[in-house]
Amino acid sequence: MNKFIIAGNWKLNGNNILISNFIKKLKMFFKTHSIINTIIFIPPIVYINNIKDIIQEKNFFLGAQNVDLNLSGAFTGEISVNMIKDIGVKYVIIGHSERRILHYENNKCIAQKFKILKSKKIIPILCLGENLKEKNFNKSELICRKQIDEIITIVGKNAFQNSIIAYEPIWAIGTGQAADLKYVIKMHKFIKTYISENSNINIHDVIVQYGGSVNENNIEQFFNTNDINGVLLGNSALIYEKFTKIIKIT
Ligand code: PEP
Repeated sequence: MNKFIIAGNWKLNGNNILISNFIKKLKMFFKTHSIINTIIFIPPIVYINNIKDIIQEKNFFLGAQNVDLNLSGAFTGEISVNMIKDIGVKYVIIGHSERRILHYENNKCIAQKFKILKSKKIIPILCLGENLKEKNFNKSELICRKQIDEIITIVGKNAFQNSIIAYEPIWAIGTGQAADLKYVIKMHKFIKTYISENSNINIHDVIVQYGGSVNENNIEQFFNTNDINGVLLGNSALIYEKFTKIIKIT
């Protein structure tokens, strides 16, 4: 069975002191608790040095929030997959709704990022999911299907082997209102079935996290089902007490 995967995305938050203190406490936590889950810590990439002394911990990995499509060259402001690999990053979030909406990234661009990550053996965490309007028009599955199709078209039928999907209904992100468990399970089943029927992967090997207002009070329900293989945390990853409580419960 796959391990439960807890990823914490700090987005555009934190500073030197905050992240150092968080990591110091987390290091102590790792010393006193045996960690059986996979923990992926995803800070703003400039704070990478703050977490260097925890990176050797078993089951603890470093993630990045973005990557460029290109490997090098005249692309001001971008960071390439070679660069993030160089500094020990193992996972990269792509397709987050904030990048789709605020940075105009479309399915094609996201699929190209997926491809470049796979080519360098970095594990993509592909976020997908519908917005509220799409949900209300019963288009959730259609939206996810389109997001998946583009990956298979551009990356190929082996795309989802050793990759992670984060199902993140946009209407549940940052709202404090997680999606209903039954709904999440239905969507996870759909995503797993669709991917296994349309590419080269067994349904049991498709890894799907849930993301959207997960916290220490609702984590247990998401943990206690085989259809959910982990969680992607936003706000709950920023507070040491919440983050570690979630790790302890799972
Ligand atoms: C996210 O932004 O991916 C996310 C899940 O955020 P939050 O946990 O704050 O809803």
